[in-house]
Amino acid sequence: MAKAAVFLDRDDTLIENVPYLGDPTQVQLLPGAKEAITRLHQAGLLLIVVSNQSGVGRGLISKAQVRSVDAKMEELLGSKGIITAFSHCYAAPGDPYDERRKPSPLMLQEAALEHGLSLNDSFMVGNRLSDIQSGHAAGCRTIILKLRIEPGDEKACAELATFSAKDWPAASAWILKSKESPL
Ligand SMILES: [Mg+2]
Repeated sequence: MAKAAVFLDRDDTLIENVPYLGDPTQVQLLPGAKEAITRLHQAGLLLIVVSNQSGVGRGLISKAQVRSVDAKMEELLGSKGIITAFSHCYAAPGDPYDERRKPSPLMLQEAALEHGLSLNDSFMVGNRLSDIQSGHAAGCRTIILKLRIEPGDEKACAELATFSAKDWPAASAWILKSKESPL
């Protein structure tokens, strides 16, 4: 049977957004993220981070700095290897290869091929409309996490997302309930 994943935006979904963050000492988890991620992992869902990191394409931070932030986040989540994969698009808008940037579904589709995932059985969680659009275009169920939602995105997200979650406990509970009832 094909596996299911939860695709996760990183900034303002799992960790507090610091623009172009390259310093691991500034990594802070959002409230409830650790407990929710632990529950999803224990339920057998693969956890895959899909993140636009245009700071690399803009020359502001290095790929190694992005990876150091990822590593710190994983440490704070409590278990190395709890995140199955990190997929980043390093391009800035207008760069070559920027077509992988969310709202494109390409990063999700690539991960599905690599890990043998069923996208229809998978989920995408994020705080912006582009996250919801990428998950929707990939055929996933989508969860807008409203902890740090972009104010201008609220209405469109409420319309497009499969579920609006006020916080991480609500998001993880909905995913765990929904995974038992495929589309
Ligand atoms: Mg975000």
